[in-house]
Amino acid sequence: MDYQKILEDIYKEIIPFAKTGKQADYIPALAKVNPDQFGMCLETVSGEVFPFMQADTRFSIQSITKVFALAMCLSLKGENLWKRVGKEPSGTAFNSLVQLEVEKGIPRNPFINAGAIVLADILLTELDDPENEYLAFVRSLCGNDSVGYNMEVAFSEREKGYLNAAIANMLKYHGTIDNDIEDVLMFYFKMCSVEMNCRELARAFLSFTNSRVFYHSGYRLSSSQIKRMNAVMQTCGFYDEAGEFSYLVGLPGKSGVGGGIVAIYPMRYAVAVWSPRLNSKGNSVMGIKALELLTTATQESIF
Ligand code: GLU
Repeated sequence: MDYQKILEDIYKEIIPFAKTGKQADYIPALAKVNPDQFGMCLETVSGEVFPFMQADTRFSIQSITKVFALAMCLSLKGENLWKRVGKEPSGTAFNSLVQLEVEKGIPRNPFINAGAIVLADILLTELDDPENEYLAFVRSLCGNDSVGYNMEVAFSEREKGYLNAAIANMLKYHGTIDNDIEDVLMFYFKMCSVEMNCRELARAFLSFTNSRVFYHSGYRLSSSQIKRMNAVMQTCGFYDEAGEFSYLVGLPGKSGVGGGIVAIYPMRYAVAVWSPRLNSKGNSVMGIKALELLTTATQESIF
């Protein structure tokens, strides 16, 4: 398959959407990002890499980080993890508080903010040096030791993170998190602040294509666990737009408000796309379009 040519053709088709939407501005540091950027990279399980445009420009991965946190927590806790967090689509916004109150402090899934804040709490409890161990894990997945946190973004989010603080307080009230609220929030924001580019994200997600043994910086996942991670990405990876993404693209994946999306074609490839302008649900406009056209052009999807 000539993926390079396909990516070039896709880009020509999505140019009309280049000015649709705007970058996330509820995190002040992200409001400063130039919204008119686009990068994409597809890597196959046999090691062919197809970078396109700004495939090497790093950006804030934001919620994509939740996939890495889930992988670590699943490896550490196994099925017991699901006593702390659910695995049902939420149908609500990524930062919704309402559902959490009704459901007595058990987040619907690990990919809404409430769920990922619980993952942060688990890692704080389980790891001796959470910040460094988390980074070591992500670096091992993408094969690049220069990947790191952006502390300006993390502190900027903390400063304006009223809603996430409310979520953390609700979780603490219901006894779902064990550690100090401030510590949990700060670690969550740091995980979200990790910067990677499309090339690194595609490489990192190749480990979730179930085509190889998963063993990274001491963390193991069975192929059955990888299958389950993909199931959660498929059903919960795009907040209240998970159904739409499934319908349009037909691959499991995860988005972030930094404008990145990563999708997986099991046993075949991982693809990352980045463009900061978001739709009203917090997902990259050009990113979703590009992936829709990719699976249409290649006729490669899980359905
Ligand atoms: N750090 C972001 C937040 O908590 C992540 C949201 C996202 O990327 O969807 O609001």
